[in-house]
Amino acid sequence: MLKIYNTLTNRIEEFQPINPPEVRMYVCGPTVYDYAHIGNFRTFLFADLLRRYIKYKGYRLRHVMNITDVDDKIIARAVEQKKSLREYTDRYIQYFFEDFDALGAERPEEVLRATDHIPEMIEIIKRLGANGYTYQSEGSTYFRIAGFERYGRLSKMKFEGNVAGASERVDADEYDKENVRDFVLWKAAKPGEPSWETELGEGRPGWHIECSAMSMKSLGETFDIHAGGIDLVFPHHENEIAQSEGATGKQFVRYWVHAEFLMVEGQKMSKKLGNFFTFRDLIAKGHTPRAIRYLLLSAPHHKQLNFTLEGLRGAESTVERLNDFKRRLTELKAEEGSSPAIAELIEQSQRRFEEALDDDLNTAEALAAIHDFVRETNTAMAQGAVRAGDREALLAMIDRFDSVFNVFGEVKQELLDSEIQALIDERQAARAAKNFARADEIRNQLTAMGIILEDTKEGLRWRRK
Ligand SMILES: [Zn+2]
Repeated sequence: MLKIYNTLTNRIEEFQPINPPEVRMYVCGPTVYDYAHIGNFRTFLFADLLRRYIKYKGYRLRHVMNITDVDDKIIARAVEQKKSLREYTDRYIQYFFEDFDALGAERPEEVLRATDHIPEMIEIIKRLGANGYTYQSEGSTYFRIAGFERYGRLSKMKFEGNVAGASERVDADEYDKENVRDFVLWKAAKPGEPSWETELGEGRPGWHIECSAMSMKSLGETFDIHAGGIDLVFPHHENEIAQSEGATGKQFVRYWVHAEFLMVEGQKMSKKLGNFFTFRDLIAKGHTPRAIRYLLLSAPHHKQLNFTLEGLRGAESTVERLNDFKRRLTELKAEEGSSPAIAELIEQSQRRFEEALDDDLNTAEALAAIHDFVRETNTAMAQGAVRAGDREALLAMIDRFDSVFNVFGEVKQELLDSEIQALIDERQAARAAKNFARADEIRNQLTAMGIILEDTKEGLRWRRK
């Protein structure tokens, strides 16, 4: 049974979906004003792990992620670069998914853009108005938090006195976390800013209303899991609850799950300190996506993770060792049969792995189970104790581990010299017959396998990269 810490109840709870075997999950996605940094990716890779483990447990998952493609920062950048909002954000959405895919994350079932859901946002704001939660001021519409009794229940901040007297308003998408104020649902149009003509007047949405609109549109008015970074608890998620429950009168989300902060070299990441890294910065330094993934998943999500370049170098050798182990096992020449000791090892490792992840997704313990499994299998291989049947069962266990962590990597099939020579001969024959399409196809196939062809005085030679 999966147990998970729920920010709403402040307790570790057994996970019980509303409508099993279906699980509906919403994850706050990126605000696409720049390249995503590794703090962002800690959250997205945690969401990926949660996603994968939910599927591992046999549930049928519907996972929705939004793209915030309109907000204060995006507008400022787009104006600066004289680009339309769409043009500016399209580019960063593309970069985001290039990084996301490279990091081995699975795409959610649905990815929704905020600016495609203006009518849904207006609809919720109108319902809030009908329920008495909104007021207008200078063309903008605000949420009156004093009218919503449960305000503050998620973030556990002390609002007494504060809430009752909250007549101050805030227009900014991100605001001072110490000062509780009425937040904007719909912002009156300003000159030079993108805007939409709606029943609430010409303007644009506040950030928080986006997520209420997109999540409820796709997942219904009450759904199972809402995840995101811990920095979103207040005000973003607190406001999402106020908006959604204020509109529907129903509980919005059952389990609120948050990934803790990422520290870099022991400090909060900042450009000033020189410890601010995008995914691309680390790739430019020669690091691999798989090692970055491994390191970001190595600490449980409810703990702060201290990301260091030394730790990343360690992760490089760890994932290389895992890949090397998988390759040696794949290529192992073993006698027929199987042994009870290996079956026992597999069973124990699987149990430990699942117990760790069931325990509020304790990735550190789950990875420790994987490393012990690798070490013990290595010992068994060295003793010649792994039979052909064991090898298949061990490889299947690696696939199960990897369906959640995705860190072992693919084993490249090594071509035998004779097979390479046969392909080259076929390519020469194809060229002689002017079948250039086939010749190119073979060349590409060889390149993909790391074989480099060279024309020399002595004729065509090949070597491995
Ligand atoms: Zn959100």
